Formats: sequence, C-alpha cells, structure tokens
Amino acid sequence: MLSRLRSMALFQLIQLLLLSTGESVAPLPEFCEVSAVGAGWAGVYFAFRQALTGKKVCIFEGTDRIGGRTYSHRMDIGDETFTLDVGAYRFSPDMHLPGDVIKLLGFKTACYEPNCPPASQEFPEPFHFNYTAPLRRIVDAEGMPAGYVTAIRGMLDQILASGGQLFMEANLTDVQALHSQEVRLVFDTRAVLTKSVLLNLPRAPFLSLQSLRSDLPERTVQMANCVKFDVPTKFFPPGSFTLGKSLTKAYAYYADAWWHNHLNQTVGQWPENAFEPVNTSEGIPIGIHWNDGPVRCNAPLQGCRGFLEVFYSTTNEDFFEDLRPSDLQPLGILKGKAAEAKLQRLHAAVMEATKPLFQKKSVAQPKEPPSMLVVGVWDRTGHGFTAPTKVYYSKDETTPGGPDPLEKACGVPGLTDKEYRDSLLFPHPDHKQIMLANNDWVAQPVEKMFGDWAEESLLQAERALHGSGLGRPAWLDEDYYNRKVLGIAEGDIVTMV
Ligand SMILES: Cc1cc2nc3c(=O)[nH]c(=O)nc-3n(C[C@H](O)[C@H](O)[C@H](O)COP(=O)(O)OP(=O)(O)OC[C@H]3O[C@@H](n4cnc5c(N)ncnc54)[C@H](O)[C@@H]3O)c2cc1C
Repeated sequence: MLSRLRSMALFQLIQLLLLSTGESVAPLPEFCEVSAVGAGWAGVYFAFRQALTGKKVCIFEGTDRIGGRTYSHRMDIGDETFTLDVGAYRFSPDMHLPGDVIKLLGFKTACYEPNCPPASQEFPEPFHFNYTAPLRRIVDAEGMPAGYVTAIRGMLDQILASGGQLFMEANLTDVQALHSQEVRLVFDTRAVLTKSVLLNLPRAPFLSLQSLRSDLPERTVQMANCVKFDVPTKFFPPGSFTLGKSLTKAYAYYADAWWHNHLNQTVGQWPENAFEPVNTSEGIPIGIHWNDGPVRCNAPLQGCRGFLEVFYSTTNEDFFEDLRPSDLQPLGILKGKAAEAKLQRLHAAVMEATKPLFQKKSVAQPKEPPSMLVVGVWDRTGHGFTAPTKVYYSKDETTPGGPDPLEKACGVPGLTDKEYRDSLLFPHPDHKQIMLANNDWVAQPVEKMFGDWAEESLLQAERALHGSGLGRPAWLDEDYYNRKVLGIAEGDIVTMV
C-alpha cells in the first residue's frame, strides 16, 4: 500500500513538473472512468467537481498549456516578476461560478479597479450587465496580479492530489459512441475508453470530430455551425461598434511608469470607452486601461515601473495583430534591438493619444519608449486559437436585413434558446454521457450581451453535472444555483436539463 502511495505521489510530482515546464507527456491510459477533454475553465471544473466526490478523473489537453482562453504569462524583468493575463482576467463575486470556487480554493483577490466601482458601471450602454459586486482579480501575497489561471491550476492541484490524472499534448481527433454505452476517445493514433466525457471544446475542434458529427441530428449540426453578431442600429448607432478580425490585448513595459509617476493616473480608461480607441497618425489605435497592467512602485506612486495596457478591443488593426506568432499561439512578444523602431512608433502613438492629459497637468511627455510589448491576439474568424464565437441574434426592427430571431439567425425553423442550450449540452441523441461545455456554445439576444465570461462555460459544466445526477455542492450559492442551473429565465443564460 505504502509503495503504491509512493509511486502515486511520484507520478503526481512528475505531472506537476511537466505542468510547470510546459513539457509533456505521460502515456495515455487504456481506460478512464470519467474524462474531460480540454483544460480550460469548464473542463477542469467538471473534473474538479467529480474529483470532490471521490471519482478518479482524467483530463486530456491538446496543447502544452492549461487554461485555454485564460492565459496568464509570467515573466522576469531584472529581478522582478510580472504576470500578464493576455486572455480572461476578472470576475464579479456575484457570478458565483467562478466566484465561489475561487473562495473555496482560498485565493486572495482584489478589486480590478482600485476604487471598486459596481461591476455594472464598467459596462456602458448598450451593454447589459446583471451583476453589481465590483469586478475582482486574483492577486498574490504582495497584492500583485497573480494571473487568472491560478484558479484553474488550484483546481488541478486538488484533482491530481486526489489521484486524478492530467495528460498534456493529447489532441482529440475523434469521438466514437459505442453500443456498449462506452465512448472511445481517439487522440491521433491512440485511443482511450471512457464511461463519460465532458468535451470542453470550442466550435472548430468540436465540429472536426467526424464520427461524433455523423451521429448528430442535422439540426444539432446546424446549431453548432451557427455564428452570428447582429448589430441593430437602435443599440449600436452606425459607426459606434466595429467588429474586427480578432479580440486583442496589448501591454507596453515602461521602466518609467509615467502614468503613475507623473500623471497620477491609476483608475479608469482613456478615452472614456477604451474599447473604442483613439486612432493615431502612426496608424496604431490606442485605448488605455490605467489599472490593468501590473506595476511595481518603491513607495505609493513613486519610482514605479511596469506594464500599461495600451489596447484592448476588436477594432481592425495590424500593428498588434501581426505580432501573433501563429494561429495557434495568441501570445506575442516584441523586444530587443530589432524591435526598437516599432517600439518607438508605439510610444509616439501613445504620446499622441494621451497628449491632452499631459497638457492639462503641464507635465512634459516622457521620451523613453517602452522596452517591450506583449500581446494576446484572439482570432474572431474561427481559425486557430479563437476568441469565443457565439450567436447574438436580435428581434429588433432596426437590425440591418430586418429582425433576426434565433430560428432565422441560425436557419433552424422553430429553434428556441432552450433547445439550443439543451441540444448542445448533450449533443448525441442516444449517449447522454457525452457532454459539451465551452464559451462558444452561447445563443442570446444581442440586447442582453455582456461580453465573454468563464461563468457561461462553468454553468454549462454545472448543468452537465446536474444532468449526470450530481447535485449542488454545499459551497455553491443556493439561490444562484436554483436560478442559473435549475431555473428558466427568458433571455438569460439559464436552462433546465
Ligand atoms: C481576451 C479575452 C478576455 C476575456 N476576459 C474574461 C474575463 O475577464 N473574465 C471571464 O470570466 N472570461 C473572460 N473571457 C472569456 C474566457 O476566456 C472564457 O470564458 C474562459 O476561459 C472559459 O473557457 P472554456 O471553458 O470555454 O474553455 P477554453 O478556454 O476554450 O478551453 C478549451 C481547451 O480545450 C483545448 N482543446 C481544444 N481543442 C482540443 C482538442 N482537439 N483536444 C484536446 N484539447 C483541446 C484548448 O487547448 C483549451 O485548453 C475572455 C476571453 C478573451 C479571449
């Protein structure tokens, strides 16, 4: 028994080392009772909930990184460490998923905006945000942003400690539903049998699973293929909303964090809605969130250095987007001698956009450009590593082309929100042990749009658990569970399974 425990501990240690270096890869098992494919929020949460009930779970992740669209990049600059979230980064505790999980895991959090405004205030019209508790992010003991993937890693640590297994670089290529009610998961040339599986897959990898796809009713395939973004002019006056090829974040590292050191500018955005950035003569759009990037100071507002988020939008542009190394790698880094001219251009653009602020304070603009630019580029066209693609439909008269209710938007007669959610949650008509949860599987009226949130994927995972017979865990808010997992509310992201 002791030697079994020792070898188990050794196996887990090796897995943790593999996880931290990004190296892979343990041989795949022939059988796993409960599986999750994809180590994003929903896949790891599903495995975590199962592990808490004593199940031995396997997680299969196609890349050498956990987190998916939650991507925390840690880097050392001199002898200091900074963590940047180039994907997902914050939550409102009113979103009990993931709020209650983060609480359960005991991670320290801080208000995203230092002055802690109600979450709803951060979403100007026409956005519609149901939550008020101020947005928060996970921080380390020092109070610095620790990276949102900390929570996913926290769940994984517990899964591994309870005997679960994580397999990296296990790219799912097919799913075969067997007559025995078992499921064969095919990873290139290797196969794993399982009794139940949650597929935490975005649209493109899900639709590429040929055997599963050929088992699905044509109606379900049509739903899975459906992507829409209606822009009714009543809600988005012409020119007020541009939907570009990607959702991109960009952070510039300044040794002199001038927004702290000279402007005392640490809260809010510039311009007022940074999602609509300032177009500069350099051809580089600039939209700043003063508080977002990690900054270190010797004393409050003195001798600060760190990262400034200079762009976060879907606006069409090439300067930041061209830094993405490939479709499969959203993280791009620009630094060193060869980057000097580009960094100089970026600085000129940032200075042009912020000139009125310096003028107002009668402060000279800094000459020294940033020494590094870090971007996260999330494709919106469905290739490579994508930003979530959803169905935003509109019944509004002012929608170009006329009202576009869900059934028309997807070309599926009679389609309702409930049918969409339930059909994709359990896509195979005869195998309810094949479940699907991901931020891509959302259909809602565009008037209720409030962005992309891990909550959407976690609710799907929790509904899948409910459908498999697992009830509410004691630590998850009861009212929230009843409303969002068991309840039905028109136009809200809830369903009855
Ligand atoms: C720029 C940006 C900012 C965001 N900000 C926030 C925020 O602040 N707060 C928030 O809550 N949400 C935010 N979101 C949304 C958030 O990222 C997602 O809702 C969240 O990460 C949930 O992920 P998921 O469970 O849908 O899985 P995903 O993140 O989509 O993960 C899927 C996983 O499956 C793996 N995979 C894919 N194909 C295969 C295959 N064939 N075989 C094996 N594995 C495979 C992928 O590698 C990945 O790890 C943001 C998203 C973006 C892009």
